[in-house]
Amino acid sequence: VKGGVAAKNLTTMEHAPVRLTHPSKILDETSGLTKQMLADYYWAVAEDMLPHIADRPLSLVRCPEGSGKPCFFQKHVNAMLPPGIGSVDIADKNGKIEPYITLSTAEALAGLAQMGVLEVHPWGSRNEDLEHPDRLIFDLDPDETLDWNVLTGAAADVRKRLKAIGLESFLKTTGGKGLHVVVPIAPKLDWPEAKEFAHEFVNVMEKANPSLYLTKMTKSARKGKIYLDYLRNERGATSVAPFSPRARAGGPVSLPLKWSDLKLPERPVFRVAEFESWKGRLKTDPWKAMVGMKQSIPAEALDRVRTR
Ligand code: ATP
Ligand code: MN
Ligand code: MN
Repeated sequence: VKGGVAAKNLTTMEHAPVRLTHPSKILDETSGLTKQMLADYYWAVAEDMLPHIADRPLSLVRCPEGSGKPCFFQKHVNAMLPPGIGSVDIADKNGKIEPYITLSTAEALAGLAQMGVLEVHPWGSRNEDLEHPDRLIFDLDPDETLDWNVLTGAAADVRKRLKAIGLESFLKTTGGKGLHVVVPIAPKLDWPEAKEFAHEFVNVMEKANPSLYLTKMTKSARKGKIYLDYLRNERGATSVAPFSPRARAGGPVSLPLKWSDLKLPERPVFRVAEFESWKGRLKTDPWKAMVGMKQSIPAEALDRVRTR
């Protein structure tokens, strides 16, 4: 990516109504992404992104000096946050209450650019019902050497198995090497139940195809395989939000895909700095249907987990 070209692409965009110090500060060298471009990007995707991040606890990855320099996670509010950032009090295991970051407006989202936020990671539950997740996430983590075709086959496999128990699921790139399959559910299970279900689900897949799938985190055993990471479904765990940029070279984003995108000949990469070239995808945002969708894991599938 040439920074100049990308920057030109984004100049046609509406500027976000937020105050930026040093708007031309570079946040990603590879693509020439600036703070202004980041703010304008957040502003442009807010309508599609907010339904998946609003009114949830958020972990933010801040890179004040850009993606090539050290970045850090921030979960808790402090005095330095831009306008519109709220807080939600959450007790940890020991009952200690901490104020977590949360937001609900496009202005607040765009304002994250001022803080150098290159990644937004929501909880899988909402502030109003923190103990009951409304999203299950299957995080497919392939060994680096694995073909895109093999990874897409695995995502299709997850989808098919979910469908077999009556559950619709949604796909996105991660901006990294893997894919995420997300299942919206009515917030009825508690976190341990959700995790148990996800664990059992991936165990079944591993049993069916042990030469391809792995359910234990061991990096060394991942050679040629896909780690089915079910641990996103734990209280306090997060996964990167749809439309979130990533703090990686080139400034890629985690973008909702249509299931038919699995037929793409290679892994698609969408960069913030090249937003003009792919923003047409927002016209038919494949995750729109997720908003307000109410579906439940069938009792039989849960019983298998509960009686183990
Ligand atoms: P990839 O496709 O490259 O795997 P990913 O976003 O799925 O991208 P993972 O390493 O699989 O990356 O992590 C999954 C999720 O776990 C992340 O999106 C993030 O929300 C969370 N996570 C990972 N590492 C940390 C960390 N150090 N602190 C907090 N959350 C983390
Ligand atoms: Mn992953
Ligand atoms: Mn993972």
